[in-house]
Amino acid sequence: MSASKEYRDLGMDRPIARRDFLNGIAIGITGASAALSLAKPNAAQAQQADASQANYPPSRAGLRGNYPAAVDEFDRIRASQYSQFPVSDSDIHEEYDLVIVGGGLSGLAAAHFYRLGLGPNQRILILDNHDDFGGHAKRNEFHYQGRTFIGCGGTLGIATPFPYSYGAKALVKELGIEVERNAEFFNRDLEEKYNLASGTFFDKEHFGEDRIVTGNPRLSEFFAKAPLSEAARKDLIRLHGKNPDYLPGMSDHEKRAKLARMSYQDYLLNVAKMSPEALPFFLGMGGRNNKRVDTTPALEAAEHGLVGFNGLGLKLEERFSEASYRFHFPDGNASMARLLVAKLNPKAVPGKQSMNTILQAPVAYERLDEPSSNLRIRLSSPVVRVQHDGPPENARSVRVAYRNGVKISAVRGRYCILACYNALIPALMPEIPDRQKQALAYPVKVPMMYTNVLIRRWTAWQKLGVSRISAPGMYHPSSNLDPGSTVGGYHGVTTPDEPIIVHMVRNPNKPGLPRKEQNRAGQQELLSMTFEDFEVKIRQQLARMLAPGEFDPAQDIVGITVNRWPYGYAYTYDTLADPDVPQEERPHVIGRQRFGRVTVANSDAGAAAFTNQAIDEANRAAEELFVLQGLT
Ligand SMILES: Cc1cc2nc3c(=O)[nH]c(=O)nc-3n(C[C@H](O)[C@H](O)[C@H](O)COP(=O)(O)OP(=O)(O)OC[C@H]3O[C@@H](n4cnc5c(N)ncnc54)[C@H](O)[C@@H]3O)c2cc1C
Repeated sequence: MSASKEYRDLGMDRPIARRDFLNGIAIGITGASAALSLAKPNAAQAQQADASQANYPPSRAGLRGNYPAAVDEFDRIRASQYSQFPVSDSDIHEEYDLVIVGGGLSGLAAAHFYRLGLGPNQRILILDNHDDFGGHAKRNEFHYQGRTFIGCGGTLGIATPFPYSYGAKALVKELGIEVERNAEFFNRDLEEKYNLASGTFFDKEHFGEDRIVTGNPRLSEFFAKAPLSEAARKDLIRLHGKNPDYLPGMSDHEKRAKLARMSYQDYLLNVAKMSPEALPFFLGMGGRNNKRVDTTPALEAAEHGLVGFNGLGLKLEERFSEASYRFHFPDGNASMARLLVAKLNPKAVPGKQSMNTILQAPVAYERLDEPSSNLRIRLSSPVVRVQHDGPPENARSVRVAYRNGVKISAVRGRYCILACYNALIPALMPEIPDRQKQALAYPVKVPMMYTNVLIRRWTAWQKLGVSRISAPGMYHPSSNLDPGSTVGGYHGVTTPDEPIIVHMVRNPNKPGLPRKEQNRAGQQELLSMTFEDFEVKIRQQLARMLAPGEFDPAQDIVGITVNRWPYGYAYTYDTLADPDVPQEERPHVIGRQRFGRVTVANSDAGAAAFTNQAIDEANRAAEELFVLQGLT
């Protein structure tokens, strides 16, 4: 977009806390100093904020998540550039008991379980490709007008549709997280104090005009206010009300079997006979694993309580839910990652930490990788090759090569846990058996995007009476004000003329393609766009949705952090896209088998994108090494 009037109206010519780390690379002082001038701090504050931008990863704005410099190496790994081990033996000087690839919750938990089994004297190195630990558990910070606003850049809740194992529950408890206290910290001010509800934004490209409608779509007056054709309105009211049985004469079993094999979109159009004109309303909706209306099996949509099924009389299993489901820190599970680091390396996060203290505990990033610590975390170090020193069945160690600035370095471990993206393992370790490599290559991670926008006031939202907006046709189908939970003494809640973070979510895909193809297309989209591309879309969307509330993107937006996750959720199976095979034949089970001295962790190895899965797979990977060492 050139320096046109629209460009200026959107505020694209304004310096804010964003371009200082354009596309993940520092480009100097301009953006940071400009951001400070907006906030008008005193000189000391300016200096402090400037230093924190450079040295403190959570403060880095712009393109974050899987930012370009963190994942650039993946292309070279996949292109077999390192198939020949890239470091000579004489250049490997560091030795560890265990090397862990991947510093997400699973890699950190694997280190914890390994020490639990073998003691704290074990020398462990964790290598991660990002400049911050935690994997998807990432914290975003904005510093504005002398205040710190904390947002969640990735995994938010200690949430799961599956019950926690004993090991995962024990770890959460040991970290001092009391999930059952969720209600104490849940911030309801926006809904209760300011009486804000949900809104839906109908965009002119899909619905003929831009209009925001507040209220619950289950109430017929909602659709009366929406810009819809009469056919679409009638059908949406019908589907959101009491439905007839659209599959009469079929048994429960027959209905379930039929629904399992058709998409929610096919069900709506062909079984419930909904007008295609109503389909855009369902664009942002879907089932588990960010599936969309065309990739969600209709049975899963029914189980998720999506509309159109209540006349079928299906006997649906009760959905699992636990008190833990909604518990979250203001920075999401980044606080859990910090609690793990505090336990593993107290030099980096000193003091006794718990859920009450961790949010505000300083992290000494420069102490994560001290030679004197038994547990070291080396960031910005993408691993490019893993190889046994000799035949895997009787090798005595594993060597691990990683990018270290402009060169490639290597370390040696007696054992290795791969807690990184499982689909990358065949390229990291081409020696593993072909069947296992095929299995590891089967899933396609789900691309996701969590955007945090700091706005200087939210009077526009208040005027419209909304705290969250669903926008089925827009780039980010969901946006909400994020006052943060109050755990750890955080006071993110604000009055409407104070700043607040707007959290926006996009799950890129390409409707019409098979699910894995859609995931690949979404990954490509995220990998190919620049920060400026994203910024234009963010500003345009907020301007359009909030126009009736007099939102001014040029004045009101004061910081943007785009957490792009082309390698997001672990892939999960469903009845539409994946063959129905016994558990032991599932690709993730075949893929996670121990190979010599190397075991496999990460939530990918559990084929489920949840905290407890990341922990359970870490536990299993550590236990496999205990068994290998003859421990009982
Ligand atoms: C946006 C988003 C929101 C989510 N929300 C939730 C939620 O609310 N609740 C929930 O339970 N789960 C959520 N999840 C799922 C989340 O993925 C898991 O819960 C869990 O955090 C995954 O941890 P992990 O360690 O298995 O994987 P990751 O977090 O992906 O960690 C793996 C690490 O290995 C690194 N790595 C990969 N390749 C290499 C290499 N070659 N060299 C070095 N390092 C490498 C990765 O970059 C990453 O840092 C969310 C995920 C995303 C993306």
